[in-house]
Amino acid sequence: MLSNSDCIFCKIVAGTIPSTKLFEDDSAIAILDINPITFGHSLYIAKEHYATLLDVPEGKLGGIVKNLQKVVSALLKATGCEGFNIIQNNTRCAGQLVPHLHFHIVPRRPNDPIRFNWQIGTYQKEESQKLAEDIKKALGK
Ligand code: 5GP
Ligand code: ZN
Repeated sequence: MLSNSDCIFCKIVAGTIPSTKLFEDDSAIAILDINPITFGHSLYIAKEHYATLLDVPEGKLGGIVKNLQKVVSALLKATGCEGFNIIQNNTRCAGQLVPHLHFHIVPRRPNDPIRFNWQIGTYQKEESQKLAEDIKKALGK
């Protein structure tokens, strides 16, 4: 089991730091976030220490998230919420504060105050085509 002695989520997984645990299987735990942005905001955390999504070895991600749907459904049932966001931050520039793979589950209610401050953009002519070509090249196609 990959673990990092300086990592707060590794300590939560090991039980050396307390948490309000909701769920556990062989590859993940779910806990309540200590500073919820909505009532019920929870974290679905890989048991092994991977800093970001891209650090997970090929073929292992499915096992980590195999019970994510189940946890989300239970959270919605328990909170009476009809919607939710899954947020997954990778690296500091994307807002990741804890470099250990986790998924935020954010229950949503009609007219709640959460707003994602997305600044909508547009592509210049042919820019999107070039971008798509570059991505496909990077994918090896
Ligand atoms: P990130 O910005 O890395 O995606 O999110 C880290 C999240 O972990 C934050 O929402 C923060 O509130 C939560 N968090 C940080 N430390 C602890 C802790 O010790 N216990 C719990 N339950 N949540 C934590
Ligand atoms: Zn860790």
